[in-house]
Formats: sequence, structure tokens, C-alpha cells
Amino acid sequence: MNDWTQCVTTPAVSTDGFASFAMPVYRASTIVFPDAEAYATRQQRGDEGYTYGLAGTPTTRALERRITALHGGARTLLVPSGQAAITLAMLTFLAAGDRVLIADTAYPPVRDFAGRDLAKLGIEAVFYDPTSLAEVERLLDERTRLVWVESPGSTTMEVQDLPAIAAAAHRAGALVGCDNTWASPLNFKPLTHGADIAVEALTKFFSGHSDVLMGSITLADAEHARAVRATLGRYGIGVSPDDCSLVLRGMETMPVRLAHASRVAADIVERFAADPAVAQVLYPPRPDSPGHALWRRDFTGASSVFSVVFQPQAVPHVAGALDTLETFAIGASWGGTRSLMAPMPVRRFRTARPWAGDDLVLRVSIGLEDPADLAADIDRFLNHLGAGLDTTSRATGTI
Ligand SMILES: *Cc1c(COP(=O)(O)O)cnc(C)c1O
Repeated sequence: MNDWTQCVTTPAVSTDGFASFAMPVYRASTIVFPDAEAYATRQQRGDEGYTYGLAGTPTTRALERRITALHGGARTLLVPSGQAAITLAMLTFLAAGDRVLIADTAYPPVRDFAGRDLAKLGIEAVFYDPTSLAEVERLLDERTRLVWVESPGSTTMEVQDLPAIAAAAHRAGALVGCDNTWASPLNFKPLTHGADIAVEALTKFFSGHSDVLMGSITLADAEHARAVRATLGRYGIGVSPDDCSLVLRGMETMPVRLAHASRVAADIVERFAADPAVAQVLYPPRPDSPGHALWRRDFTGASSVFSVVFQPQAVPHVAGALDTLETFAIGASWGGTRSLMAPMPVRRFRTARPWAGDDLVLRVSIGLEDPADLAADIDRFLNHLGAGLDTTSRATGTI
């Protein structure tokens, strides 16, 4: 072999005796075939066959299978973000003239997608009160092809009765998709509670280190999985095997990270709940949180994300209190090693179930720092709010 050819030829290296726990990163755009016949018949390689890098390499398959096993599904497809998982699931199953019912508490960019892109395609998106089965039943009609669930809901944490919603949707001939990012399949398995499609933002707890974006779509039915795979092929959507290896690594510690962070979260939640500046803590594992009964019935555990609603007089002091934080960072997303707080507006994202509280809800995500450092930060935060309230009360003569 001449030098130039030698330079571009991958040597055949023995893997005999190389037994490792790690899944190698298999990269590829081109897949090569042993002969002309194999190339000509490549589309017959089956659902998980290798034909071109876009549809995955062995690294991609390893991650898909791990997620499929956790969900008890037929097949999982990977996409570049959690938001892409939602939109591509919808685009696969919806067509012009269809209606889709979307929980009012769905991840806000889903509302934007529905209003702009689904509308442009002639698909009618109707938002429903996530706590009202009667409303879902009333809105289901013969055009309804999909009911979208997110439980607990973004920011305001309403828990949905997925088994009842799925039964109603299936009676009406509609599919059910569920964004399961808060719980992860460790704490809730949508497919075993009636959903046809389970979506995860792997960006969060799965990857676990705030350094990769990915989403997964797990289907209960192999034919539906084929339909999603075909959509991804047509749109040219795939994920990097390097990113898959990061998520594969993150997943190995996910159960321990999630269990630890949810234990710490339970303590931090009580610190907030006991403070006079706090009106309500929205965290389904808490007995006085809305949706607690459904959470206890259907979920096997909790994650470490919750929301805090403040007394109206405390709201103007929240921004200053955020600036006193030393361990918590201010930022969106969650599920990483670092604890985060993010003030979220809610009202503009609710149409079917108007938000009656103040338009500032603080979303808190607990990470893996020393719990004592986190507790000290919460004390600083609440002290700042308390001092602000005292000043306000004196100025207005209410004390
Ligand atoms: C973060 C999040 C998403 C989107 O995930 P990305 O990977 O950031 O696009 C979707 N749904 C829920 C509930 C989320 O929290």
C-alpha cells in the first residue's frame, strides 16, 4: 500500500481480550458495505441497522437501549434537545386538519411552537387545564390525534392523572405523549401509565453535568418508532456519538445523584415553607402541595426541582435576595451538579388555567454541593427578604 493510501486506511486492530465497561465512541458519517449486494439492500437492515451516520452508531444504540429499558418501551430515538424531542414527536404524528390538546403547563417553548409552526401547518392546538379530566374529555373530538401531558407541569408543578387522561384519549382514538423530564423514568414511567410516547430532556438529570444538550423520544409501539425514525431522517436530525457517550456516563450516576439531591431538596423545601415571606412551596412530594395525592399514587420518588411562591409584599425583594447567593447560581435548566435558582414569569404562559398568584415564581433546582452550604445560602436569601419586609412594613405603617 502506498503512503497516501496508508495514511487514510484504518488498520484492523484486534479487540480480543479487550473487555471494558466503557462504551467506545463510534463516529461515522459513511457506513461501508462488504459488497454491492449489501449496499443495494441496506434499507433491509432492520430498525436498528446501520446505513448512514445520521441514524446512529453503536454508541447511539447503546444509549437508546438504556433509555428504552428504563421506560419499558419498544424503541428510543435521540434528538439534539428536549425541545426537539417534543416538536419532532408532534410533527411525526400530526397532520393538517388534526387537533392536538396540550397541557396549559407544558414547557413554554412548546406553546410558541404550537402557535407558530403547528398553526402554519393547519394543526389546531388547544390548551387544557392539566388538572381537569372533564376538560380533556370535552375537548377530545374525532380530529384529535394527540394529547400532550407534562407532569408535574413546568414551574407550577400540577400533577396530571395520566392513566385517566390516556384512557379517555384512547377511547377517542388519540395518542398520548408525556414530557417526563421532572421525574425521569426512575421516578415515573409514562408508558406503563398509558402514554404512547415518553419524552425526556436528557440535558437535565440524565447527562447531569450541565454540559450537553439532548432529548429522547421513547415509543411503546415499534411502528410508531419507525415513523419517528423516518421523520428524523427526512429532517436530517441526528446526535453526536461524543454527546451520547457523555449522556451514557452521566446516566451511570443518575440514580445516586437524583436520590441524594431529592433528599437535600426535601430539607430546603421545609426551610422555605416555614418562612413568613413564602406563600407556598410547589413540590408534589409535600403533603400540602397541589397534586400530592396523584404523585403518591403514581410516582415512585421525587426529583430535586421545586418552585416557591412568595407573599406579595416579599416579591419586590426577591431580586435583591438572589444577589446575596454564594453557592446557588442564577440560571435556567437544571439537573446538573450545581444548584440553581431562576425567577420565572408564569401568567403569559397560561390560558386554560389562569395563574392567580404573583407573576414571579422562583424555580429552585438542588445539585450536589454540601447541604450545609446550600442551607446557609437559603438563610441568607430569606434573611434578605425578611429585612426587606420589615423596611416595607415600617414605611407603610403596617406594623
Ligand atoms: C428543559 C426542559 C425541556 C427542554 O429541554 P432542552 O434540552 O433544554 O431543550 C423540555 N421539557 C421540560 C419539562 C424541561 O424542563
